[in-house]
Amino acid sequence: MSTKTTTGKINVQTENIFPIIKKFLYSDNEIFLRELVSNATDATQKLKALTSMGEAKGELGDLKIEVVIDKDAKTITIKDKGLGMTKDEIEKYITQIAFSGAEEFVQKYQDKVDKNVVIGHFGLGFYSAFMVAQKVEIFSLSYKEGSKAVRWECDGSPEYQIEEIDSKTERGTNIVLHVAEDSLEFLETQKIEGLLKKYCKFLPVEIVFGTKKEWIPNGEKDEKGIEKETEIDVENIINNPNPAWIRKPIDLKDEDYKAFYRELYPMQFEEPLFHIHLNVDYPFNLTGILYFPKLSNKFEAPKDRIQLYSNQVFVTDNVENIVPDFLTMLRGVIDSPDIPLNVSRSYLQADSNVKKISAHITKKVADKLDELFKKDRPDFETKWDDIKIFVQYGLISDEKFYEKASKFTLLKNTEGKAFTFDEYDAHVKANQTDKDNKLVFLYATNVDEQHTYIDAAKSRGYDVLLMDSPLDAHLINSLESKLTNTQFVRVDSDTVEKLIKKDDGQVSKLTEDEQTKLKPVIEGVVAKEKYSVQFESLSETDSPMLITRPEFMRRMKDMQAMGGGGGMNFYGSMPDMYNLVVNSNHPLISKILAETDATKQSQLAKQAADLALLAQGLLKGEELTKFVKRSVEMIN
Ligand code: ADP
Ligand code: MG
Repeated sequence: MSTKTTTGKINVQTENIFPIIKKFLYSDNEIFLRELVSNATDATQKLKALTSMGEAKGELGDLKIEVVIDKDAKTITIKDKGLGMTKDEIEKYITQIAFSGAEEFVQKYQDKVDKNVVIGHFGLGFYSAFMVAQKVEIFSLSYKEGSKAVRWECDGSPEYQIEEIDSKTERGTNIVLHVAEDSLEFLETQKIEGLLKKYCKFLPVEIVFGTKKEWIPNGEKDEKGIEKETEIDVENIINNPNPAWIRKPIDLKDEDYKAFYRELYPMQFEEPLFHIHLNVDYPFNLTGILYFPKLSNKFEAPKDRIQLYSNQVFVTDNVENIVPDFLTMLRGVIDSPDIPLNVSRSYLQADSNVKKISAHITKKVADKLDELFKKDRPDFETKWDDIKIFVQYGLISDEKFYEKASKFTLLKNTEGKAFTFDEYDAHVKANQTDKDNKLVFLYATNVDEQHTYIDAAKSRGYDVLLMDSPLDAHLINSLESKLTNTQFVRVDSDTVEKLIKKDDGQVSKLTEDEQTKLKPVIEGVVAKEKYSVQFESLSETDSPMLITRPEFMRRMKDMQAMGGGGGMNFYGSMPDMYNLVVNSNHPLISKILAETDATKQSQLAKQAADLALLAQGLLKGEELTKFVKRSVEMIN
């Protein structure tokens, strides 16, 4: 027997809100399920809270939420055994759009209830149902004593119907979605299971979706005494209501963190290097676990990303503007009800809570690395190659991070020995300070290609750093502006004498006149626009000629290759320039000068220049073939 049916109008300003909701409210229609299951969770959590406060009497019973698909009836039903709604409450909470019942609940019980218990605070979640349903029914029975069950129905127009019914005898709410013709995909079991796993995987109330097969011992034993098992149907529980990040760090072991990592990223087979457990409740709420994955020495768009939750409801795995850029390479979970989720990304950046959260995460990450560094330096050094790309990114992009990280950032030399900035400073100070009192850090980017130069530097007792990561070019620029009185110079950017300028050098064996005479001869055997011929007084045991590439030139080229910003294109289009350094103290150079036969003279010069090109890998193709032929002839 049902009593009178009332019709009413949904209290919104525009006549037809549904097309608007469908189009603009949420970009993804699939989030309807997240919203409705969140509401069911809220209703359950509220009932628990009321019971513990003594405001709700009666047994709580089994509180699981159930999601059921009926393909024939084309419905999806979300059932909860939460606090339910009376007729008045439905009219108030459901039909007054944007009047959020959750907000009111929190206000009323402000001091008694943890606000985080309540997920909803957008106030529009329920209406996302109309993104996939052409009609929605609510069946609800309130926990309040003497309540009558109600049925509410709305077909997407601003009109709705509401009536008291007798058929619902169990406390709680069933939301029935009559799926629209254009959304029938949501009647597929796999689709719904996928969505539940995506959005509801860590909701605090158990969610049942159908059944699954499981083998359990049936009490009998076979002839060998082994327990027999029978296959039975068990409830298919979608979620883990008690995920690691909401538990206390003290209750968790390393294995638990690793197990949770696998739970988050079932397709990740590599273990994380280490983790950080975040737990703040003032001045903002934040929990979560961040993992450091092994990062390869290159940039790639991460596919397993940090997941953002709001009270255990999955929101997104795009944490841009919420965690600092350099940390988006990490993995794990961040859960904060204080991140405004219903605003645009660009607005997020300006939000003061978000700023604080971002700063907090940066600090925690830096502190953790510092702790690892101090606790076990050898272990930190072995992990360094896996984390350096992200530490370097942080150093370059985040002042606050730099302040802390500059204490534990490592520089490695070509022998693989690691130093902090301070240690390195002390290590090279005595031998690598130039005449202007500037400290020169020599570095190579490729041990094989720059071998000759590294060797020459080492023979002088210099130390050479290996800077071969894709970020090193940027890092060098950034460090030069931060480290006082320190300059980075690549080993092959000048002759070893001049890498670190100490005094005014040796006296040249060639006079100015002799140099002027010899210069055009040498210029005649190399591409003039590419190589600029210069005389230098090196030692007799150094090469007769040698190619260097000025540091500034190489940096510009590097920046351009890294895709350095607009202005850099100017340098990028500049031709490559090298120095062809002629060692005026080398006997061969004197020999070339003394040669009276012009052909022979130029042949000798050509041979010496080609040798220099060869050492830098610049002699190629036809020129290389000619060189080999010429050399054979000379030997003969
Ligand atoms: P919000 O969750 O942000 O409050 P919604 O539009 O999702 O906004 O829901 C509006 C209100 O309707 C809720 O605050 C709650 O009072 C009520 N409500 C929705 N679903 C349920 C449910 N399953 N059980 C009890 N109350 C519900
Ligand atoms: Mg809601």
